[in-house]
Amino acid sequence: MSEMQSCRYLTSYISFLEDKIGFCCRAASCHQPIRPLMSYKDTAEKTAEAFLARRHALISELSGNIPLDKAQGCIGCKLLKPCQNDSRKQLSHIMYAFYPSPCQARCIYCAHRGHRLYGPGDMKLNFKEAAASPIAPMIAGIIDYLKKQDHFSPNTTASVGSGEITIHPHKELLINSLSGIKSAFFTNAIVFDEQIAHHMRKYKSFINVSIDSGTSGTYRTIKGGDWFRQVVRNLYKYRDYGNIRLRYNVIPGINDSDDDINGVVDLLKSIGMDYLFAAQETGMPLNECMPGLIKIYNACEFSGKKFTGVFPEVFTADLVQEHAKKFDANVAEAHRQHLYQKYKNEYVNDYFAYQDYVHSFEHNKSSKGVY
Ligand code: SF4
Ligand code: SF4
Repeated sequence: MSEMQSCRYLTSYISFLEDKIGFCCRAASCHQPIRPLMSYKDTAEKTAEAFLARRHALISELSGNIPLDKAQGCIGCKLLKPCQNDSRKQLSHIMYAFYPSPCQARCIYCAHRGHRLYGPGDMKLNFKEAAASPIAPMIAGIIDYLKKQDHFSPNTTASVGSGEITIHPHKELLINSLSGIKSAFFTNAIVFDEQIAHHMRKYKSFINVSIDSGTSGTYRTIKGGDWFRQVVRNLYKYRDYGNIRLRYNVIPGINDSDDDINGVVDLLKSIGMDYLFAAQETGMPLNECMPGLIKIYNACEFSGKKFTGVFPEVFTADLVQEHAKKFDANVAEAHRQHLYQKYKNEYVNDYFAYQDYVHSFEHNKSSKGVY
C-alpha cells in the first residue's frame, strides 16, 4: 500500500451493467473515454475472482507497477486524485444497471424504451428476455460469493436500477442478494412492492421516484400511461416504511408550467416530504430548462416554506447563478448568494461532495426524511 493516485469508485464500486461489469458508475464514465469493463465468466465464482483480479491490476497500473504502454484502464482519468490506493480495501457500493430488464412505463426520455424525445432507444426493456437471461442469477451469485469472502464493508450501499425492479422476473432473488445492505431502489412506483417496503424498513433503504409532473395530464405525456394517482397512492404507502427521494427532471414546455410545479410542491407537503431533487433533463439544453428549475426553486424555498429544491448537476452552479438573476429579478441578492454558495460548496467542487450531501440527509434526524 502506498500514497498514489486513485478514484473513489475504483476502490469501492462493483457495477453490473448491460453485459459487462464496471469498476465505476455511469457518471464516472463521462470522464474517461475507455472506462475499464470486464465480461461475465461461466460461473459466479469465476466472475467474482476475475473482477477482484482486474481491480487489483487496475490499481497496480496506477501505482506504476505496469508499464504505461501496457496500461488499459484508468490512467489519464480526470477523477484520479492523490490518495491511498489499496486493492485489499473492501468494496462499499453495488450498482445494478443491467439489461435486458422489464418496465411497464414508456417515458418520453427513456434511453431503453424507444423514446419519443430523442429518437429510437436500444429496446432493452423486455420481460421475456429478462426472464430468460442468466445475468440476474449470476449477479446474485457474485454478490453472495463476495459477501462470503468478506469483500464488502459494513457500510456498503447499493443502487438498484435496471428497468423496473418491482416487475423484474428475478426481483426476489435480486433483492434478497442485497439483504443487510442499505439500498436505493429506482422505481417508477406504479407498483407498490412489499419486499422493497420491508427492505426500506429493515435496512434504512429508500426509493427514488422520478415524478416529473404535478398533474395527471403531464404525467401521462411524460410516462406514457395514466398512473399518476396510483403512483401518489403508492408514495403514501411507501412513506410508512422509510424515505422517499422524489426527482423532477425538467423538460421545457412539457412539465414546467405553474400547475405542475405547484402540484408537485403540494404533493411534497401532503406526504410530509421536505426535499425535491430537481434537475435539467439530461438531453435538454440547460438554458431552456432553467426557467422551470428557477420556478421550482422559488416554489420550494423562497416562498418561506421549508422545502428545498436543488439543481444537482455539478457543472451548472455558475449558470444557476446567472440564470437566477435573469429569470427572477425579484429574488433578493442575499438569496442569490445563498443559492450560489450552496451549489458551489455542495456540488461544484467535486461530484462526490454532492453524493456526500445526499447521504448526509439520512443522518439529519430533524429532516422529515426525503432526500
Ligand atoms: S479512475 Fe476513472 S475510469 Fe478508473 S475507475 Fe475511476 S472513474 Fe472509472
Ligand atoms: S421508468 Fe425508467 S426504465 Fe421505465 S420507461 Fe421510464 S425511464 Fe425507462
